[in-house]
Amino acid sequence: MKKFLVVEDSPIVVKIIKHIAKLDQSLHFDIAMSFKEAKALLEDNGVKKYLAAVVDLNLPDAPDGEVVDYSLSLNIPTIVLTGSYDEHKRDQMLEKPIVDYVVKESRFSYEYVLKLIHRLHKNQHIKVLVADDSKTSRKFITTMLKPHLYQVIEAEDGQQALDLIHQDSSIKLLITDYNMPVMNGFDLVKNIRREVDKNSLVIIGLSTQGSGGLSAKFIKNGANDFLSKPFSHEEFHCRIIHNIETMEHVETIQHAAYLDYLTNLFNRRYFYEKGEEALAHSHKNNRPTCLALIDIDHFKKINDAYGHDAGDQTLKEVASLLQQAFGRFIFARMGGEDFCVLLPGLDIHKATTLLENFRELVEDHIIMLDNSSVTLTISAGIAADLSNTLDELMNEADRQLYNAKEAGRNQICAAD
Ligand code: GH3
Ligand code: MG
Repeated sequence: MKKFLVVEDSPIVVKIIKHIAKLDQSLHFDIAMSFKEAKALLEDNGVKKYLAAVVDLNLPDAPDGEVVDYSLSLNIPTIVLTGSYDEHKRDQMLEKPIVDYVVKESRFSYEYVLKLIHRLHKNQHIKVLVADDSKTSRKFITTMLKPHLYQVIEAEDGQQALDLIHQDSSIKLLITDYNMPVMNGFDLVKNIRREVDKNSLVIIGLSTQGSGGLSAKFIKNGANDFLSKPFSHEEFHCRIIHNIETMEHVETIQHAAYLDYLTNLFNRRYFYEKGEEALAHSHKNNRPTCLALIDIDHFKKINDAYGHDAGDQTLKEVASLLQQAFGRFIFARMGGEDFCVLLPGLDIHKATTLLENFRELVEDHIIMLDNSSVTLTISAGIAADLSNTLDELMNEADRQLYNAKEAGRNQICAAD
């Protein structure tokens, strides 16, 4: 993560920020204790070095927020810190394209500032589409989004917005007006929701007050939220951040549901979902595909001799060897000491060679358990695809794995 700049003359505030940031290894910052020092740092290091600036409104050599204008003139996202709440000053500041206005009240204020820095960092990767036929409206919204570092693209009507969404699946947020030529906001939302769900693309509808329940209709048609015009700078950002954070939380939960807790490899659920997709794709393109089931030999003995924790460590090490050997394929821990790899594009000979290499990699790997060097071996069964289902491939690979175990372990058996 890039650095941020703190311009603050109070040693106590600097100390608190340093303390909170120390708990978070990903945060790095420079401190300037005056306007003069801030200018010198920016001139020496260049503006590009800083993701954002956190600036105090009252500095001895800049008593009236001069540093805010300076920072904004350099296009640095600027978070304003102030010692006391002043409604007039606040409104005056929020008219400028600052990120936020924070009153120095307690530790929470500084934690909030650091949360904003993290948000700005993430926003750089979030693509936002603004759909509105009015150029002024689009510019108004874009001007609010840009200081928060979102990547902004614009559409003049619903159809153009829909086309852009079809072309670019990385668009994460759509802000759309209702009244637009060619396709209105409702039809746009309805069309998008046929393909993209609420957790993959956030839609916020814009409605004008007194327009007879437009806002509720937006939600009923599939929007995540709405904003009634006119809205304040703060209201706008609170809604956007709230919705984006909800989407990110769902993403985190979905991702966790695909992961194996012990090894951090993907799990059975992931393997079946992605495996079915990959297999269908291979069938469509007439590509060969193999599936390999891998099982550690006599794993129980490790648990019995060195304990369950040592068994866990062994599983983690085998997982990292799998990562090393099959990184570009679909692989997962299926449960216990069973692992599975799907190898799209490989025929049985190539798959066998790859598994043979992996068998040797495991055989040569030394694991330190209880100060003893331990080695292990694996057995594997491979099935080749003849337009089978994933279950059929799995069953065949399991039969081959059984053969490998019966034949003495530490070997690969393949169904030709
Ligand atoms: P084989 O060569 O026939 O595969 O013998 P094996 O000992 O590897 O297989 P078996 O199925 O008899 O035993 C597997 C053991 O793996 C039993 C189970 O307690 C252990 N196990 C399963 N999951 C975990 C885990 O998450 N951690 C640890 N430490 N052990 C586990
Ligand atoms: Mg085993």
